[in-house]
Amino acid sequence: MATARSLLLLTVAGFCFCFCICRGEEVIMGIGDEMAAARGGDPPYCGNLRMAVEARNIIGWKTVPPQCADYVARYITGERYQRDADVVTNEAIAYAESLKLSGSGKEIWIFDVDETALSTLPYQTNHGFGAKPFDNASFLQYIAQGSAPALQATLRLYRRLLQLGIKPLFLTDRTEDQRAVTTNNLLQQGYCNWEKLVLQPVGLQTSTLAFKTGERQKLVSAGYVIVGNIGDQWNDIRGSPEGCRTFKFPNPMYYVD
Ligand SMILES: [Mg+2]
Repeated sequence: MATARSLLLLTVAGFCFCFCICRGEEVIMGIGDEMAAARGGDPPYCGNLRMAVEARNIIGWKTVPPQCADYVARYITGERYQRDADVVTNEAIAYAESLKLSGSGKEIWIFDVDETALSTLPYQTNHGFGAKPFDNASFLQYIAQGSAPALQATLRLYRRLLQLGIKPLFLTDRTEDQRAVTTNNLLQQGYCNWEKLVLQPVGLQTSTLAFKTGERQKLVSAGYVIVGNIGDQWNDIRGSPEGCRTFKFPNPMYYVD
């Protein structure tokens, strides 16, 4: 997340029912959307956009469109987000419980940190839940506080993996100078034990996707078996070796390459 967020996307063009997507495609919304806007409710397409973002049909976007700011805020602070996260966790636990481990102690499960192990919602609450342009300075200040709460669904998965004998490993685009604060934050939130905490070198000039893919390759070369991999961004779970199975948490607030 400390890296630059690559962009494009969704600028509002003309009337409230028409979005311009970065590559020039336009999606003209129907009369129902106009009526919803007139009623003051969320445009129905906000749910469609969220779905498209999660499915990676829309990529490279920069901010949540203003018409959907309230929708995203309600989603991310409401029960639906928690239930969606629980569905992901339930599937991940069921998969982990089905595995027959080798006994080598080399099976690992990779966790992303922000919006996966830890939540930045306290920060997002004061910064528009993705509707405002990303401000790296204020975000770094939030990280430096070391007060990010755990995502409870992730903590549940983490604890079950420890019981099963699968070693958690954190792989994050936070940087090495954030190691101490990240370690303390994770410990304080109940993540008590992990195989490694892999952070980006300061000043690394590459995408998060390339960084994480390269680090996973190093782990495989060192003899680890990545049985699972979970994150809130597609760049957490794309790029070979991804892991035997990947799981994606919802995140409609921001996109990271
Ligand atoms: Mg993340």
